Amino acid sequence: EAKAQGGGSIRFFNPAMQETINRRMLIESALRRAVKHQELEVYLQPQVNQHHEVVAGELLLRWTDPDLGSISPAEFIPIAEASGLIIPLGAWVIEQACRTLRDWQTIDALKHIPLAVNISPRQFRHGGFVTQVEHCLREAKLPAGMLELEITEGMLIDNVDVTVKRMYKLGDLGVRFSLDDFGTGYASLAYLKQLPLYQLKIDQSFVRDMLTDVNDDVITQTILGLGRNLNLSVIAEGVETVKQRDHLQAMGCTKFQGFLFGKPAPIAEWQARLLESAVLSVD
Ligand code: C2E
Ligand code: MG
Ligand code: MG
Ligand code: MG
Repeated sequence: EAKAQGGGSIRFFNPAMQETINRRMLIESALRRAVKHQELEVYLQPQVNQHHEVVAGELLLRWTDPDLGSISPAEFIPIAEASGLIIPLGAWVIEQACRTLRDWQTIDALKHIPLAVNISPRQFRHGGFVTQVEHCLREAKLPAGMLELEITEGMLIDNVDVTVKRMYKLGDLGVRFSLDDFGTGYASLAYLKQLPLYQLKIDQSFVRDMLTDVNDDVITQTILGLGRNLNLSVIAEGVETVKQRDHLQAMGCTKFQGFLFGKPAPIAEWQARLLESAVLSVD
């Protein structure tokens, strides 16, 4: 019957699947062009301590295509990853991070603020990755600890030995590692002590539901305890309300990121705000 529909050609996909594929292909070719012409933007979201002082920032990609409009990283990052575009795109984000950090080294109010970059598994596995990071760090002459890389548990599923080796190499160059979206993957807890990690990031899904779902509350507590016992910094992401902040603080959390403190905005915008005050007011 597939034959009867398509005048000799066979339809493998239903219309909904076909639409998904079409959009993916559309995004991939638009993204290829945008990466080539450097049309994406890097936004910054601050991370604060319990006094609401900005202690670090995370860089997040933003992309608005002239035809397709604004497209979320949640949609285009997986396409960049699948197509290999993540290699040049990810390298560009690291470059932007190191350049910003270099500029900030000359400004007293900003020189102690590290910047974090999200790294996709394919980007981390790519053969030239360590050399690229090394090159950027050297060009920018950064002190150790200023560049953070956010990796996910997905990176630890296969080739753990290679991953660990590479992490140690980067660690020797002064790079710090955060485990992003922690608790949502399926990495063995045994890896935690093997890896040269600096920080765990409590996934925002736990923070979002922690006050209404006891399971999420227990998981959040457990991650904070794990951090204390393994001597790792822990940051909660997706903090949107004072209630969430207070509850996290009562459980011993000392670092926060979320709309309550500040939304991602262009680096220049945050730079201007931070020069006015390093402490963020929450209402
Ligand atoms: P992520 O690294 O876990 O980043 C946190 C996401 O949560 C960001 O979404 C951020 O805008 C959002 N967020 C921050 N605070 C709040 C809050 O209080 N409430 C809510 N509801 N959301 C909040 P965004 O920017 O859309 O990025 C989504 C994901 O895309 C990131 O998740 C990261 O996995 C990926 N991504 C973004 N930029 C890059 C990049 O340069 N490279 C790679 N490989 N991945 C990236
Ligand atoms: Mg992240
Ligand atoms: Mg996250
Ligand atoms: Mg995520």
